[in-house]
Amino acid sequence: MKVPFLDLKAQYETIQHLMNAAIQQVIDQTAFAGGPFVERFEKDFAAFCNCKYAIGCSSGTSALRLALFSLGIGEGDEVITAPNTFIATAEAISACGAKPIFVDIDEKTYNMDPDLLEDAITPKTKAVIPVHLYGQVCEMEKILRVADSHGLFVIEDACQAHGATYKEWPAGSMGDAGCFSFYPGKNLGAYGEAGAVTTNKPELAEKMRMYRDHGQQSKYYHSMVGWNDRMDGIQGAILSVKLQCLAQWNQARRNHAQAYSQRLSEFPDIITPSNPVNGNHVYHIYAIRVRFRDTLMKHLAERGIGCGIHYPVPIHLQKAYRHLGLAEGFFPVAEACAREQVSLPMFPELRPSQIDAVCQAIETALPVIN
Ligand SMILES: *Cc1c(COP(=O)(O)O)cnc(C)c1O
Repeated sequence: MKVPFLDLKAQYETIQHLMNAAIQQVIDQTAFAGGPFVERFEKDFAAFCNCKYAIGCSSGTSALRLALFSLGIGEGDEVITAPNTFIATAEAISACGAKPIFVDIDEKTYNMDPDLLEDAITPKTKAVIPVHLYGQVCEMEKILRVADSHGLFVIEDACQAHGATYKEWPAGSMGDAGCFSFYPGKNLGAYGEAGAVTTNKPELAEKMRMYRDHGQQSKYYHSMVGWNDRMDGIQGAILSVKLQCLAQWNQARRNHAQAYSQRLSEFPDIITPSNPVNGNHVYHIYAIRVRFRDTLMKHLAERGIGCGIHYPVPIHLQKAYRHLGLAEGFFPVAEACAREQVSLPMFPELRPSQIDAVCQAIETALPVIN
């Protein structure tokens, strides 16, 4: 049996009428850029994240950029994040003129190790961006405590964690700002590019709204230099409808993760993801860790099982960040994960027979490649 890594068509088929109607509504009202559908989604999403404000924008990358610029971070500043993230986290830091600083990750959660944070802080540090990788929220209490005691802003990169929780708090509600991506493959995915920033701070919300729309206070009156990071009306309409399904989709992902882990944790050569004790994981990615990753992936590919690597090269070893002068060995846990992790098929519509096929393919691989 072939199992795709991701199947967006399967989801569309379950909500086809709703999606088509949502798109038609936007066309009927020609509310293409910003407008009432985006505003409605902003209200819905802010409520979902238990935040006062959500500012819709054009991508997760733009969400991070809006937050950093609006907090006044720029040239000469340092921003701390994790080395095992999508490049966009570091790019946003670079885009505002600041320097990305990395701290290694925790072996169990694959998230920023909060005990290493304090040592990375210098007089230039202005903010920290914890990344809730794979859908698991970082140790926010520790991170917030360290950030508070040094007067740092906290920007949550929640691009993989829509609906995840830490204790009673939703991802995106704990820092000064929470950044979300609605890239089609994310847990809440648009039919195109989109993102949002959440915050409880009215001045910050206002500033992000202005940056997003050319620094406009009112039409054609520009009080600051901004740019265009607006969200499409069609994406707003789609996301409002899909948001109503998100809790159910996230629960399906958790069930799939549990099914995988139950079966795969029997094998001492496989490290399955840790399930958080104080919150809900939303399994944007289900990654296992194995020493013989590349051989396993080849074996799975031959059997029609789609897999991925998130991410094969940590940011500090990317060519684009060579100028930082960081070498192999600086962040050993993140580097080991980049060598040893493989992401298995994960999407809400995954069927038990497909999970079975993936596990079976892994099980037959073990004696061959070990
Ligand atoms: C997807 C993602 C982003 C960027 O989002 P885009 O919408 O693709 O710009 C940023 N950070 C993380 C951790 C992501 O997974």
